Amino acid sequence: MKVHHLNCATFRPPLVAGGLVAHCLLIESDRGLVLVDTGFGMNEVTDPKATIDGLSRALLKPALDITETAIHQVEKRGYTADDVRHVLLTHLDLDHAGGLRDFPKATVHVLDSELEAATNARSAKERSRYPKAQREGVNFQTHKAEGEDWFGFQAVKDITGLPDDILMVPLIGHTAGHTGIAVRSDNGWLLHAGDAYFYRGEIETPPSNIFALKLTAKQTETIREQRVSNVERLRELKSSGEAEVFCAHDPVELARLA
Ligand SMILES: [Zn+2]
Repeated sequence: MKVHHLNCATFRPPLVAGGLVAHCLLIESDRGLVLVDTGFGMNEVTDPKATIDGLSRALLKPALDITETAIHQVEKRGYTADDVRHVLLTHLDLDHAGGLRDFPKATVHVLDSELEAATNARSAKERSRYPKAQREGVNFQTHKAEGEDWFGFQAVKDITGLPDDILMVPLIGHTAGHTGIAVRSDNGWLLHAGDAYFYRGEIETPPSNIFALKLTAKQTETIREQRVSNVERLRELKSSGEAEVFCAHDPVELARLA
């Protein structure tokens, strides 16, 4: 399958030199177009205050550029919104689920524990990470975080409507239902690790990190132990060379793959 690496939002948070991206995938499959994550969509760009809370706007400093939206990049390739049949989400944080409303015909795949966490958000912090408006009218299909082996990870296979070469690889920790998405591309396996880590150095051997992103990972984590152990497992997978591993927000990883 042909896989395009897109940036669907740019952020300029303080103390992060080079900024951050929203690394999404556009897959041309025999079942139609498939998106992995959606960054920010038209709603966020044209009316940011309606969905993005003040603190997130101040911390993320999003560029809010229409040409970065997934819908713009789909149309630029000669397709329409309706050609996107499926969207797989690593999780429902606002910077990953922003474009959902731009693809009303798509089935949106997410782990059941993630949709539950978002729907039942109780604290102010949870409500701002999971803005309700982003999920209005969205056709969700939920999946349990269980399945078969994939390079030592548990993977959800047989996702209705999707080719066998697209899997969910649960990486719980950043959020309660966070998952990686594995795709077998023309050039081998890719693993979109979402927000399982934030800086490319975290999965290198030996690992490295930068202060602001280490802090971000800590402040946004839901289950610390699982998050930390996932980073170790991803480091092993990367060093095995079995899959190309990348996260959602590292601009250097995106530049290497785009
Ligand atoms: Zn994120």
